[in-house]
Amino acid sequence: MAITNIEQLNGYIELSEDEKAWREDGENTLPILIPERIAAMLSNPAIRRQFVPSAKENEDTVGTLDPQEERENSHTERLVHRYRNRAAFLVTDRCFAYCRHCFRRRFTGKMIGEASEGEIREAAAYIKEHREIREVLLTGGDMFTLSDSHIRRMLSIFKSECPSVIFRLCTRAVAVCPERFTAGLFAAIKENQKGAPFYLMTQFNHPDELTDDAAKAVSGFLDLGIPAFNQTVLLSGVNDDEKTLIELSEKLLLNRIKPYYLFQGDLVKGTRHLRVPIERGLEIEKNIRAELSGLGMPQYTIDLPEGGGKVILTHSYLIGKEGGSYVFETPEGKIRHYPDVSTRG
Ligand SMILES: *Cc1c(COP(=O)(O)O)cnc(C)c1O
Ligand code: SF4
Repeated sequence: MAITNIEQLNGYIELSEDEKAWREDGENTLPILIPERIAAMLSNPAIRRQFVPSAKENEDTVGTLDPQEERENSHTERLVHRYRNRAAFLVTDRCFAYCRHCFRRRFTGKMIGEASEGEIREAAAYIKEHREIREVLLTGGDMFTLSDSHIRRMLSIFKSECPSVIFRLCTRAVAVCPERFTAGLFAAIKENQKGAPFYLMTQFNHPDELTDDAAKAVSGFLDLGIPAFNQTVLLSGVNDDEKTLIELSEKLLLNRIKPYYLFQGDLVKGTRHLRVPIERGLEIEKNIRAELSGLGMPQYTIDLPEGGGKVILTHSYLIGKEGGSYVFETPEGKIRHYPDVSTRG
C-alpha cells in the first residue's frame, strides 16, 4: 500500500526531527504520496530526499509558488504557451509519487483532476489555430495516471486535430510506477501513432531509479519507435556530485535514453534546501563534460524567474578576444587562438 501521510511514514521508517516536523502549508502544500516500490527504497538517501518531506519546506522564504509565471501564460485552463513554437498541456495534477522538488507546486496534487474532453478539445483547437506551435508537451502531473481509455481518447483528439504537431509524452512514472506500462497502454499509444512522432520525456535523477523494471517500461516506447530523452533536476544531496551524474548518464545511454537537460532548481517555494548553488552547478557541468561523450552530456539549464524562460548555463571556453583572434582555454588549460574569418588579412 502507498504511504499517504506523515504518521504512516513515521511508522514505516524512523524520521529525523526535520522530517517529523513537516506540516501542511496552505496552497504551498505538496501531498505525501510514496508508492510501495519507492517506500522499499527509502534507506537510499538519494531516494529519501526526493520523496520524504522535511520541515525545511515550511521554512523557505525565498521561492514563490509560480516562478515561471505559467498562470499569466495560460491560454486555456491547462495550456501554457510560453514559447512561440511550443506549448505545455497540463493533462492532470495527479502523479504516482510526489517529488519534494516539484516545480509545479501551484498545480500538482491539488485535487484538480484530469482534463475533461471539453478542455482537451479547447486546447486542440487553440493549437490548431496557432500554427506556429510545432511541439506540445503532455505533462502535469503525470499523464499516465489516466486510464488507457482516457489516454486513447485524448491522443486521438490531439492527433486528429493537430496531426503535424510533435507531442512529447512527459512522465516520471517509468521510474516510480513502471508496472503502469502494460500491453494495453502501449496499444492505446500505438493506435495513435500517425502524423508527427511522439517523443518520450523521462525524469531520472539518480542511477538507482533506473531499475530493470524502469528500463523495461522505457523500452516499450523505444520498441514502438518513440525516442526517449531524460530530464534530470540537479538536487542537493541526491545527485550534486560528478560521480553520480556520470553514472546516471552512462546508464541512460545504455538504455537508449538520451540525457537532455540537467535543470538548475527553480525558485519554487518549499524547495530551497534541495537547490544547488549555480557556482557548484557550473563546476559540475565542466567536470562531467570532461568525462562524458557528447551523446551522454545533458545541457545544464535554468528556467529564469518571472517567466524569463529557459537558458543554457555552461562553462565558457571562450575567454576573450585579442586583435582579430578569439582566445580559448581548452579543458586541459591550454590557450588556443582562432583568427576569425571576418578579420583575416
Ligand atoms: C520547458 C518548457 C517547454 C519545452 O522547452 P524545451 O526547451 O523545448 O524543452 C515548453 N513549454 C513550457 C511551458 C516549458 O516550461
Ligand atoms: S512527477 Fe513531476 S509533476 Fe509529479 S511531483 Fe514529480 S516533478 Fe512534480
